[in-house]
Amino acid sequence: MKDRFMGHVLPELPEGHFIGGAFVEGRSARKMESFDPGTGEAFGCFALGGAGEVDQALRAAEAGLRHWRRVKPADRSAVLHQVANVIRANADDLALVEVLDSGKTLAEAEGDVSGAARIFDYYAGAADKLDGRAVDLGPAQTGFTRREPVGVTAHVIPWNYPTSTFARGVAPALAAGCSVVAKPAETTPFGALLLARLLSEAGVPDGVVNVVTGLGTEAGAALVADPRVNHITFTGSVVTGVAVSRAAAPNVTRMTLELGGKSPLIACADADPEKVAEAAIWAIFSNAGQICSAGSRLLLDGAIEEEMLELLTAKTRALRFGHGLRNPDMGAVNSELHLSRINAHVVAARDRGCRILTGGQRAVDPETGKGWFFEPTVIADLPPEDPVVQHEIFGPVLAVQRFESEAEAIHLANGTEFGLQASVFSRDIGRAMRMVQEIDAGSVTVNDYWAGGIELPFGGNGKSGYGREKGLEALDAYTTVKSVAISHA
Ligand code: NAD
Repeated sequence: MKDRFMGHVLPELPEGHFIGGAFVEGRSARKMESFDPGTGEAFGCFALGGAGEVDQALRAAEAGLRHWRRVKPADRSAVLHQVANVIRANADDLALVEVLDSGKTLAEAEGDVSGAARIFDYYAGAADKLDGRAVDLGPAQTGFTRREPVGVTAHVIPWNYPTSTFARGVAPALAAGCSVVAKPAETTPFGALLLARLLSEAGVPDGVVNVVTGLGTEAGAALVADPRVNHITFTGSVVTGVAVSRAAAPNVTRMTLELGGKSPLIACADADPEKVAEAAIWAIFSNAGQICSAGSRLLLDGAIEEEMLELLTAKTRALRFGHGLRNPDMGAVNSELHLSRINAHVVAARDRGCRILTGGQRAVDPETGKGWFFEPTVIADLPPEDPVVQHEIFGPVLAVQRFESEAEAIHLANGTEFGLQASVFSRDIGRAMRMVQEIDAGSVTVNDYWAGGIELPFGGNGKSGYGREKGLEALDAYTTVKSVAISHA
């Protein structure tokens, strides 16, 4: 076993759903295998839940809510701090499972796990500060508002960041006094199950956090269509986001939609070329490009285009990919199906005559000849309407566009149906700030692609979705405002 996981010992993997504070078989005995994308081999089995398990979980969540919403905010805060401590104490197991589930590198998985602990600490700090406000209604009445938990919350979690997406939805929901039913993606079920057990160990009462594993079209669909759900947090593709909105509409369920992106990194002529190339590489090749906010488009000023492309191509060719546990620069793609989707985009681009500077092929781990990999790829000279520019490929494929003026850069940056993130590299702060104001995106960074943290809200405009996660703004999704007026004339 040790050899199989390169010296790491796999913790016991739960096979059931986590409902009411314990692992349960569920009403159906159906199971599905889970694959390590770094080898393409199965390493575990998880339960396929459906409407029956979702019903069980929602009953537990309703019971959990009745208790948790009445727990003193300071006590909720203490439990969430303890969750952060327990996550840190179990970081090695969580990171190993994250690598095997998702295909990412160990360093990336460790970063996600420590980030998840930080998220719980951040919202622990907010739990006892959800104040209302006093409202002056004159001498005969007293008015004030209360921020109350929205109720039972559903969290549909994607496969690219299973641990941190779980944390960034569940932590603010718990801080606000809500209960949770989470449905992890079918290719990455184990992180959420392990986290649910750790939350329970840390003192989260039974029924407050429940996890049902299974297919999106079964367990996911049953969860989001259920009228007992008061808020849905969905992260994933636009197509599924639309399906979730439709299913929830008859119940008028509130939701936060965090969908895709095609985010531009704009390099102006006065930017530091080395800094731009380094940032552009990590903006697209981190997590093998499977990030909603990946810098999947590089917009280069024509004056620096040739120099930048040379630098970028050399840096891209130097990247090493392989099994995540060996900690290369880039890990595997999450599933064989997703690898074939990425490949289809690049094959079509090649057939259209696009200029592929480097990469462009499916690959295997060079050491073992196994696994689901795609070469880090750079495609240049792309017109604004090219599908590589317009579609979210969600893989290690960088689309390069050229601009000749500030106005054209802004026009190209805003030229997709998405609006999640953008980045501007320029030494001219006036120009950078003009661009910050003109770019249509939920987040804009200047002179660093991945600036910011849990403290800053995150979310999209346009087809990137709506609502905000992270920051204090995330708490708006999990609270509802009640107005109280007392007449004492
Ligand atoms: P998806 O959107 O289908 O899956 C995301 C989650 O939704 C999973 O947990 C899945 O089980 C669930 N789901 C699927 N159908 C559902 C339904 N009808 N009702 C409720 N839940 C449902 O994503 P995918 O097919 O795995 O990936 C396809 C594309 O999604 C990618 O190429 C990428 O563009 C995008 N994606 C984006 C993000 C992101 O962070 N924004 C994350 C993952 C995938």
